[in-house]
Amino acid sequence: MKYSGGCSCGAVRYETSADPVVQGNCHCHSCQRMTGSGYSPTLFFPVAAVSVSGEVRHYSSTGGSGNTVQRGFCPQCGSQLFGQPAVMPGLLAIRAGTLDDTALYKPAINIFTSSMATWDHVDPSLPSFPEMPPRP
Ligand SMILES: [Zn+2]
Ligand SMILES: [Zn+2]
Repeated sequence: MKYSGGCSCGAVRYETSADPVVQGNCHCHSCQRMTGSGYSPTLFFPVAAVSVSGEVRHYSSTGGSGNTVQRGFCPQCGSQLFGQPAVMPGLLAIRAGTLDDTALYKPAINIFTSSMATWDHVDPSLPSFPEMPPRP
């Protein structure tokens, strides 16, 4: 398996041999609240390619785009692992900090930098978008 990881207590584990479709940092205020951090570092995989074990509970919140995001967390330890934005059907977002090898995360873009925390810094070599990036 190329990518594997899990929550803090180990009750939830996931793995996939797929490559991420897209990887990037979301600076929307919803992600800031849910992670308690400056942004959500996220890898998107085809949902069917990821196998998950353990109980995952979901909380539905409104993301920076104004659309619903189902956010998956471990009910034992509260670790945030997954996101499923309604605007990206068929994709499962995995929080990079939950990877067993966090070095596998290679962010390619920053999005929603209009709500970036004043104490946060972004890699200036990455393309940044104040809101959602334009659709290809
Ligand atoms: Zn846990
Ligand atoms: Zn976000």
